[in-house]
Amino acid sequence: MTIDQFNFAGKKAFVRVDFNVPLDENFNITDDTRMRAALPTLKKILADGGSIIIGSHLGRPKGVTDKFSLKHILKHLNELLGVEVQFANDCMSEEAAVKAAALKPGEVLLLENLRFYAEEEGKPRGLAEDATDEEKAAAKKAVKESQKEFTKKLASYADCYVNDAFGTAHRAHASTALIAKYFDKDNKMFGYLMEKEVKAVDKVLNDIHRPFTAIMGGSKVSSKIEIIENLLNKVDNLIIAGGMTYTFTKAMGGNIGLSICEDDKLDLALDLMKKAKDKGVNLVLAVDAKVADSFSNDANTKYCNVNEIPDGWEGLDIGPKTEELFANVIKGSKTILWNGPTGVFEFENFTHGSRAVADAIVEATKNGAFSLVGGGDSVACINKFGLADQVSYVSTGGGALLEAIEGKILPGIAAINE
Ligand code: AMP
Repeated sequence: MTIDQFNFAGKKAFVRVDFNVPLDENFNITDDTRMRAALPTLKKILADGGSIIIGSHLGRPKGVTDKFSLKHILKHLNELLGVEVQFANDCMSEEAAVKAAALKPGEVLLLENLRFYAEEEGKPRGLAEDATDEEKAAAKKAVKESQKEFTKKLASYADCYVNDAFGTAHRAHASTALIAKYFDKDNKMFGYLMEKEVKAVDKVLNDIHRPFTAIMGGSKVSSKIEIIENLLNKVDNLIIAGGMTYTFTKAMGGNIGLSICEDDKLDLALDLMKKAKDKGVNLVLAVDAKVADSFSNDANTKYCNVNEIPDGWEGLDIGPKTEELFANVIKGSKTILWNGPTGVFEFENFTHGSRAVADAIVEATKNGAFSLVGGGDSVACINKFGLADQVSYVSTGGGALLEAIEGKILPGIAAINE
């Protein structure tokens, strides 16, 4: 079922959203992007004449914690929706069940943080540090058992289930995946946000217009191995940027000075290079670097060849020759995936490379390429540059997007499609 086909008139919808927004010390929301992202889905349900039970998590509580209460976002949700949203301060309480049952068309009930219950994640809590393997296994079994009741109760509040929480689609949690089995195919669906995310991922994994270029940045090769390996089966060009660069440079015998490097991944870097060659993938590595004499924005800087970094200096961004090299590859592409900055973009003086990549992506997009930016810091980058609306899609999912690109089946998506 798709959300557009579904008529919510007179129906109660359980909508799993990702309202895991950042809060300051006074519980003010510092970035409401995730809340806004769910509005089209919520508004469609209300416009149809349906009512909504909203489920979400906030943070990583290990039990009931005021700091992670969703009551902090209630006022803002009222404003965004233009509806007086009701609140149930315990998602399993009699009060929650009564309020859900009494919902009339156009009404909305926000449940308290689902992760106040261990059952949401299905992971045991409060185990002693010295717990034996048997104790751990028993605790796990117990929480999995009670998770069934938890999930069933959440499902009982509603007639249909809508998953609009792409950020947690890679988790097989009660409200993100397990709950779906209590609804038949005609009564469960993705929300609009989730639909857009699934389509965007599908375009870079299955509906590829060539050439396809992936730009992988970030700090460590080790955290990106699986993605790189999966992408080697898909892309025409693989650009390696960011801190990962220096592991490759060192593996090839270059001098990298104090640059970040994973010495135990040198063989892996060479292996990835060989795999790229065998598969006919054009692996594009940096040729020069902007180096600094300390890890700070105010460090002295200069440019040098990437394999000739002087002792005492470290590469904190790509240099101008590399910017041009990367930009040319990107501009000639029809499908583009960008994950991870080219340098330490948190320091103003080392954002230039990431900006050059972003500009090239924008230009390619204007010329008809499909561009997907996502998976953590590249999203912060594109937002910092104010260019988010000039690429095809900026994903809201960090880990979820990365796992999807790794080629994994995301439980939140599978549960709806099953
Ligand atoms: P990731 O979370 O793996 O995408 O990595 C993003 C982080 O990589 C950012 O915090 C960057 O500051 C960092 N990074 C990028 N390039 C470098 C570099 N040359 N040296 C150290 N850190 C880097």
